[in-house]
Amino acid sequence: MSDLISDIATRRADILARLAAAAQPPRAVKLVAVSKQQPEERIDAALAAGQRVFGENRVQEALRRWSSRRPLFADLELRLIGPLQSNKAEEAAAFFDAIDVLDRPKLAAALADAAQKLGRCPRVLIQVNTGEEPQKAGVEPAEADAFIKAAREQFGLPIDGLMCIPPADEAPAMHFALLAEIAARNGLTELSMGMSDDFETAARFGATQVRVGSALFGQRH
Ligand SMILES: *Cc1c(COP(=O)(O)O)cnc(C)c1O
Repeated sequence: MSDLISDIATRRADILARLAAAAQPPRAVKLVAVSKQQPEERIDAALAAGQRVFGENRVQEALRRWSSRRPLFADLELRLIGPLQSNKAEEAAAFFDAIDVLDRPKLAAALADAAQKLGRCPRVLIQVNTGEEPQKAGVEPAEADAFIKAAREQFGLPIDGLMCIPPADEAPAMHFALLAEIAARNGLTELSMGMSDDFETAARFGATQVRVGSALFGQRH
């Protein structure tokens, strides 16, 4: 095994063990490897270490990186975790297994149109701006219930759950708790929350998937 593969395999095993210890009651928490801006050899090392679920921030970067690898790994799962413009919705719907950043009616409409046209629809998470930060994407917490209902009923999208990115300068726990509460009252089961610095806290607060980049791959280039 190359050094790079064994480094990433070791870090991955450590993250999975910490997730298993933090998830109470015991349950599986999916590790989404955030591969944005990582060198190609680290992606291949993660694949060699057995990682199959990856999160990408940009549609074009993901297409470039994954189009050639996708046919080699039947069990690959690719998730879009960065902002999506409505005019890229069709390209994204054709390529990704899941889109974790739905946050507005215009994008919901574009995804519904794309799904109709393509005859396939990725699974969808709704992003909630739990910190109500003006510069951040996500539906406001007060509007989440209505938007979830519209996404399901008006647009007919397969909504699995919610995603959030807490404010960088605040303790994340109350944001995770808020996201879990909104999901529970809307009958949603998937919670994408927690990154390199706080994935254990997220698992404790009910995350079903965590998005980890630098703690798995090393610093981005
Ligand atoms: C970059 C990114 C991550 C991973 O961040 P790390 O701190 O490197 O783990 C997770 N989620 C989103 C939405 C991101 O953009």
